[in-house]
Amino acid sequence: MSHTTPATPRDAFDHLLAGNRRFAAGTSQHPHQDAARRADLASAQRPFAVLLGCSDSRLAAEIIFDQGLGDLFVVRTAGHAAGPEVLGSIEYGVSVLGCPLVVVLGHDACGAVAATRAAVADGTTARGYLRDVIERVTPSVLAAQAAGVNDDDGYIAAHVRHTVDFLMERSRELADQVAAERTAVVGLCYRLAEGTARLVASRGLDLASDPALRPGTAPTANSR
Ligand SMILES: [Zn+2]
Repeated sequence: MSHTTPATPRDAFDHLLAGNRRFAAGTSQHPHQDAARRADLASAQRPFAVLLGCSDSRLAAEIIFDQGLGDLFVVRTAGHAAGPEVLGSIEYGVSVLGCPLVVVLGHDACGAVAATRAAVADGTTARGYLRDVIERVTPSVLAAQAAGVNDDDGYIAAHVRHTVDFLMERSRELADQVAAERTAVVGLCYRLAEGTARLVASRGLDLASDPALRPGTAPTANSR
C-alpha cells in the first residue's frame, strides 16, 4: 500500500484502480484501518478522492477500492442522483479538502435505473421522495433511448456519463478546479459479479495515450 497520499489526478486515479484490482483479484490489503491510522486522522483528513456512488449495498466504496479511513470522501445516493446537497458535498471535497479526483460510480443491475426505465415506459410516477430520485435519473434514460441504447450496460454507462456532465455543468466550482488541473472527474461502471470497475467518462484527465483506459473500451475485466 502507498504511504503517501496521491496528489495529482492521475496518481489518484491509478491509486484507486490499483485498489479495485486487488479487490477483484481477492488480494485486498485492507489499508488504513488500524488504531494508528485512526489516531493520525483525528486532527485532520486528507482524502485523495471524492466518490459519488449509488447507495446499493453491494457498492461499499472503501471495500471495492480497497481503501481505508481518511482515503475517500464518499457521497452515496440511490442511482447516484445528484441534487444541491450532493453538489455542495462534492465542492467541499474538492475545494476545501483538496481532493485531486472526483469519481462517479454506477453499476450494472442498478435498481434506480431499472425503476426509472419502468416509470418512463409506463408513464407512471413513484410515490414519496422516490419520485425525486426517478426524476434525477430520467434525463439519462431518455438520452440513452434517443441514442438507441437497449441494454442494461448501455443505460448504466449513459447514466454515469450524464452524471459526470451534470456535475461539470452545474458546479462552476468543480469546472473551475478541473480547468485549473487541480482535480479531474471520471465515470466508472462497476460489475457486481466480477467486482471490476471500468472507465466510461473522463474530464480533465488525459487517458487517450493509454488504450486500456480509454473511455468506452470493451466492458471486460481487462479493460482497466
Ligand atoms: Zn444502483
